[in-house]
Amino acid sequence: MEYLREAVNFGGETHECDKPNFCPHCGTGIDARIANKAVLGRGYFAVVYQCTVRDCRKFFFSAYFKSEGLDIFCTHPRVRVPDAASEISALSPRFCDLYGQSAEAEASGNFDLAACGYRNAVEALVKDFAVKHKGAVADAGLMRKPLQDCIADYLDGLDEAVSAYMVKEFGNSAAHYPQLGRPFDFSEQKAYLEAFLQYMAGKLKILGIAERLPQKHLLKFQTPDSAAPAPCSDGQ
Ligand SMILES: [Zn+2]
Repeated sequence: MEYLREAVNFGGETHECDKPNFCPHCGTGIDARIANKAVLGRGYFAVVYQCTVRDCRKFFFSAYFKSEGLDIFCTHPRVRVPDAASEISALSPRFCDLYGQSAEAEASGNFDLAACGYRNAVEALVKDFAVKHKGAVADAGLMRKPLQDCIADYLDGLDEAVSAYMVKEFGNSAAHYPQLGRPFDFSEQKAYLEAFLQYMAGKLKILGIAERLPQKHLLKFQTPDSAAPAPCSDGQ
């Protein structure tokens, strides 16, 4: 979970608080409204937030402990693990398992673990995709095949290949010691992950439809149109 900073007044004392930057109920990025706040005593504080999304409007709260500043130590409820698209969950239960575990790590603030987990989840999805749609054999060779090679061999669209590659780069960056490669930015990795999942969900949906189309139509779609104008011969 990531946070916004907000100054909150507790009965005359103002403290800077980490405010969750998305709703744990609907998963939407928000600047939550403060609905209530309380001093619980013995250095403990609580803030009740309300989601600003019109169809949600649900409440959640964060509890804080005063040390040098106010340290957040829990938010309730925990972040709901977002569901993967049905096409993806049907293809790769292993991806869904790793994705869920990584989201749990993210919700607990363990961003390095989450970054490694999301990278591993992408590897599971790419390999399951390779077995189902690219003729790869699910054997020890595929298990050991580096993710970078799998991306190059099995993802033929530039969009999904580049987004998968970037998730891998950030995951590797979080895993290595000393940290190598790109500077680690968890939110950037999440953006590439979301893009990758959208491309893959669309691709799987199209492949599912293509399997049911008559072969003559498919061949026509895949054959260059012989009636297309010839390329210019003057080099432009
Ligand atoms: Zn919400």
